[in-house]
Amino acid sequence: MSHDVNCIFCKIIKGEIPSAKVYEDEKVLAFMDISQVTKGHTLLIPKAHKADVFELDTELARHLFSVVPKLAKGLKATYKPEGLNIVNNNGETAGQTVFHYHVHLIPRYGKGDGFG
Ligand code: 5GP
Ligand code: ZN
Repeated sequence: MSHDVNCIFCKIIKGEIPSAKVYEDEKVLAFMDISQVTKGHTLLIPKAHKADVFELDTELARHLFSVVPKLAKGLKATYKPEGLNIVNNNGETAGQTVFHYHVHLIPRYGKGDGFG
């Protein structure tokens, strides 16, 4: 599996940096965002280092997104949000700050919940 030694999410995958894991299989990992935009803010990443959607192949994307409904249902059951945003930033211009592909799952609780 290709990792980037300077990548913070690769370090999380390798266990070099602690994280609150939500889901893991051989290809993907989901964990709590360190800076919770709202309660339950979760990140889903491929274990292989892919900088952004432009480096992601279809098979990996298919698998990664097959996990999204499971995570969404888990978040709904645990945090009882009213809604959920699924967000992915690609490129600095688009707001990406960590250059290892990730999907944000952001539970929504109504106006003033911290997002949007
Ligand atoms: P981006 O702005 O690239 O779409 O999102 C990067 C996300 O990674 C941010 O929401 C940020 O809080 C999160 N993040 C950055 N460093 C860490 C870390 O070391 N651990 C965890 N769990 N999340 C991180
Ligand atoms: Zn990485």
